[in-house]
Amino acid sequence: MSNVSGELSEVTIRSIQHYMYCPHRWGLMEIEESWAENIFVTKANLIHERVHDPDKNYTARGKKNFTSVQVYNDLDPYRLFGVIDCLELVPDVKGVPVPGENGTYRLRIVEYKPTQLKGQEYREDDAMQVFAQKLCVDYVFGGECEGIIYYADVKKRIHLPLCEQFTEYDEKLKKLLSEMRDYREKGKVPPIREKQKCSGCSMKDLCMPTIKPIKSLHDEIKKIKRITL
Ligand code: SF4
Repeated sequence: MSNVSGELSEVTIRSIQHYMYCPHRWGLMEIEESWAENIFVTKANLIHERVHDPDKNYTARGKKNFTSVQVYNDLDPYRLFGVIDCLELVPDVKGVPVPGENGTYRLRIVEYKPTQLKGQEYREDDAMQVFAQKLCVDYVFGGECEGIIYYADVKKRIHLPLCEQFTEYDEKLKKLLSEMRDYREKGKVPPIREKQKCSGCSMKDLCMPTIKPIKSLHDEIKKIKRITL
C-alpha cells in the first residue's frame, strides 16, 4: 500500500503482532476500527503503563535502562515505527555510541509480557514483534542489538535467537508486511483462519466466531439499525 507520494505506508510494530495472533482480529481493529477491552488487554496495559514511564530511566548493575524508547525504520519494505518497553545499554568497547552518553554500548531490547505460556519458551508473534523492534534499533543506533522477553509472572528473561535466525525472521516479516498492506489497500478484513485459537481474545463478543463469521462490522451495524428503525 502506497501513500500519496508513492511510498509504502507505515506499519506500527504492535500491529504485526496483532496480525500474527489473528488476521481477522487485526482487520476488525485496523480496518473496521473496532476495539474491545477485556481482562487480558487490561492486564497487559497495566504492565505497559508501569514500564512506559519516561521518568523511569535508571542504572542497575552497570547497565543503563531507558524506558519507552521511540524507534523507527523508514527503509522499504519495512517502514516501521513503535515504542520499545526498555532499551538496555551495556558498556562494551566493541559497541556503538549512543547520543547523549559517553562511551560505547551493546544494546539490548527488553520486551515485557505478563505471562509465559505453559510448555513454550516464547510465542512466535512476540519474537516477531521484538525482531521488528530490532530492525528499528539497528537502523537508528547502528550495530546489532539483542532481543529479550521478560515474563512478569515467572520473573524470567528469555534470549531470542534474532541474530542467529535473522534471514528466517526477515523473510517472514516481509511477507507479513506485504499481506497487511494488501488488506489495507483493499479495505478488506481477512477471513477467520481455520483452527484459529480464540481463548482470551478481547474481540470475541464482536466477532462471535462460533456463531458465524462477520464479513464487515459496518454492514452488520447497518443491518441492526435497519431492523430497529
Ligand atoms: S474471536 Fe477468534 S476469530 Fe474472532 S477475532 Fe478473536 S481470535 Fe479472531
